[in-house]
Order: sequence, then C-alpha cells, then structure tokens
Amino acid sequence: MKAAPTLIQNTKLRTLSISKHICGKDNKTKTVTSCTSESKNGTRESYRKRAKAKFAQNRLLQALVKLESPLKKQYEDTQFCSWSLLQNGNTLTAKYCKQRWCRICNRIRTGKLISGYEKAINEMLQPQFVTLTIPNVLAEELRETMQEMLHNIRRIQDLRRKNKKELIKGIRKLECTYNVDNNNYHPHLHLIVDNIENALHLRKEWLKRYPTATTKAQDIKKAKEPIELFKYFAKLTSKSKKDTITIKGKKIIRDEWHYPKALDTIFQAITNMRIIQPMGGIRMVSDEIEEVEAVEMQAGEITEDRTLWKWTRMETEPGKYTFDWVDQCTGEMLTGFYPTEREWKYSNRIRNFET
Ligand SMILES: [Zn+2]
Repeated sequence: MKAAPTLIQNTKLRTLSISKHICGKDNKTKTVTSCTSESKNGTRESYRKRAKAKFAQNRLLQALVKLESPLKKQYEDTQFCSWSLLQNGNTLTAKYCKQRWCRICNRIRTGKLISGYEKAINEMLQPQFVTLTIPNVLAEELRETMQEMLHNIRRIQDLRRKNKKELIKGIRKLECTYNVDNNNYHPHLHLIVDNIENALHLRKEWLKRYPTATTKAQDIKKAKEPIELFKYFAKLTSKSKKDTITIKGKKIIRDEWHYPKALDTIFQAITNMRIIQPMGGIRMVSDEIEEVEAVEMQAGEITEDRTLWKWTRMETEPGKYTFDWVDQCTGEMLTGFYPTEREWKYSNRIRNFET
C-alpha cells in the first residue's frame, strides 16, 4: 500500500481504503486520508463551512428537482454548485450556480453585501430597522403582491421627492415566509433607514396604502445588528402547530421542516425581482457572483501542484459518512467534514414531498 500523502502540519489523520479505479494512475488500492485542519482561518476551514452548506441543502434540492417545476433546471444547477474544485498550484477554482436559494452562493453574496453597504450604514446617525407587513396571501397572488409592495415603497419616496422633502436614505429587502397551518404566504419588507422620523413616515404611508394591515404588525426598532438585513431572503424551514410539544406547561414548536412545494412557489414568485435595493442616494452594491471563482490557498495548505477535488459521499466506517471534496488520485479529503446527528436530522426534515 502506498504511503499516505504528506499533509499540512497539525492534522489528525484517518485512513481507509478506496477502490483503485478512481485514480487510474495506480493499480494498487489507495489510502484515503482525511485531514481536520486545526487552523481555524485557513482555506480548508472556509471550505469545511461550504461542505456543511452543501450537505445541508442536498435533500431539499432533490425534493425540489422532483417537483418538475419550471425551475427544475436551476435546482439541478444548484446540486452541482461547487461540485468539483480544480487546484492549480495554490489556486482553487470552483464553479457556482448563482441561484437565490443556494446556501453556498448566499454565503458569498452576504459577504459582498456586508462589505459593500457597511460604510453607508455606519454613516447613518440613527439607523432604524423597520419591518413592513401586509396580511398573508395565497400562492397565486404572491408575485403580484410583492411587485405591488415594491411599487408602493417607490411611490412613498417619489412623493417625498415631489414635495421637495429630503429623501429617505436606506436599504430595503424583500422577504417571504410560508405559513404551514394556513397554507399561505407572508411577504414582507425589512428596511434599514437613517432616522426615526423617516421610519415613522414610512409606516404611516404604508398603512395608508394597506388599510387592512395593522399598526401592531409593523415594527420599528433601533438597528443593533444592521448586517442581519443581508441574511437569506427566504427562510428554508417553517414552523407548524402540528409540531407543538408542551414542556413544563409551556408550548413550544420543536422542529421546523422544509416544505419544498411552498419554497418552489416563493422562488418562482421572486424570479427576476430585486431582493435588496438601496434608496435615497445610497449606491447600489452588486451581489452578482462570478460563475467561476478562484481562491488562493494559504501557504502550508498545498499538498499537490495540480489536483481535481470531487464532491464525494463516502462511508468511512460502517454507518459513518463523510461528504467532502476528495482528491481523486490520493484519496485525500479537503475538509474532513462529517455531518453531526443534528445536521442529518435538519437536512432530512422535508414534508409535502409529493403533493
Ligand atoms: Zn450555488
């Protein structure tokens, strides 16, 4: 048996057999070596987070593909997001799906938005976090309702311009959640605006346009963590009263589930819609992801000059699975990611698969 490849220092090694046909260079059985880097900030650690994201969305994507929706091709693209990584010297190149629901792409997008809007938010003297809502709507009304909501926000600003009032400076984000028990949708807007007067003005104008919405359902608070705004536009799991349990007399919803059909409805509804947009003169930050992105690996992390790492599911011990990018020639694992029991459960909580 060939010796295990030399890995970066401070790694824990684990070995097992991998069949010889994978590499094609050697007729002997190879040694698979996994590494768990102890360097927390290295490229491998960042890929470990990506492996976790890729694993977490795997089952949901399978369910979405089975729906045969108009977005089927895009869901399939996400299944292949960062599927293989080409390493050339110290550069690691990946191909992205660029879809709105992809956890891998959203991690990159969130980073871009935070660094792009940070300065504008820091310049606000009294940043306020505003939530504007309307009563829930049915699936077939969702797209039109969201378009109308965005139109109304623009109208509020246009009126200020017309009346020679100072424009509201801010960033708005469109979000939508699914109500399992009523089988309807809750589109809403989150905004960070520059001061309390503007926040109150927005709420007043919003309620004029949506008289059936209640004041109580609109929220204004000091923006303590403005970067929260840049997290995912749609929560991928939803609560249901069916999952309520009582602990010490207190009712709590234990587990949230994925509802692929509802998510597909939301994803179809937001096609070509801008999720995050600045207003009042703040410059737009692009959250476009390059289709192919190259990352420089840190010194000491490189084990081979030129390698193809492929996303692989492997049983490394009976009943123990790893999901990782594996060097097809040496069997080395890039990140050493093993899903925890909790991560398995999360990815498998999928309901309404067929209906
Ligand atoms: Zn992606």
